[in-house]
Amino acid sequence: MKRGQYAVIGLGRFGSSLAKELVKLGYEVLGIDKDEEMVDEMSEVLTHVVVADATDEEVLRSLGIRNFDCAIVAIGDDIQSSIMTAILLKDIGVKTVVTKALSELHGKVLQKIGVDRVIFPERDMGVRVAHQLVSPNLLDYIELSKDYTIVELSVPKRLSGRTLRELDPRAKYGCSVVAINKKKGVIIAPTATDTVDEQDVMVIIGTNDQIESFESEVI
Ligand code: ADP
Repeated sequence: MKRGQYAVIGLGRFGSSLAKELVKLGYEVLGIDKDEEMVDEMSEVLTHVVVADATDEEVLRSLGIRNFDCAIVAIGDDIQSSIMTAILLKDIGVKTVVTKALSELHGKVLQKIGVDRVIFPERDMGVRVAHQLVSPNLLDYIELSKDYTIVELSVPKRLSGRTLRELDPRAKYGCSVVAINKKKGVIIAPTATDTVDEQDVMVIIGTNDQIESFESEVI
């Protein structure tokens, strides 16, 4: 087991998936839900599970929640319970409290009460899927700022064997290939003579416009 204990409160679709992944990554996870059925389903998978109402301060204290490194509030539609649980966790002194927000306003409230990280899974996934739909070679992207992005693009077959000099993204489009992920390993800061092959993944940094032109004209 790795060090680092997580408590996941609310074992719906989002909470249970998050909790399972943390276990897969080697961390100890306590799952809490007021619904016995949800808890039963996860009892074999998570390190500990408890049927409890997370809006009850005494319950949270008795579970020793204070000693957890991070608590994630993944309560779904019940905004009141989500906010109350988040306040209690901050009051009790949990180091890092992450909370799922259902709307911008819910997110604002959570930020005001001092939640360390507010996440918007549905909103963010919608944005991500839209990007992937319009550019089929896009595997992933990170928005560095309003203008700059890092993207991972898969290399199509017809570009196999081409050098970066031939593709020439920097001179022609202004964006840079910062890494090429190949089956046998990653080339960091590739040079002009490095080649790309089918199934490689290019990691590219640039403005959205630069990357878009490179993608539409070359990829
Ligand atoms: P999702 O969209 O992720 O599936 P759900 O709304 O279906 O979200 O699930 C949220 C979970 O949170 C449910 O299993 C529900 O029982 C649990 N939950 C809601 N309120 C509380 C609470 N006060 N204490 C503990 N668990 C709660």
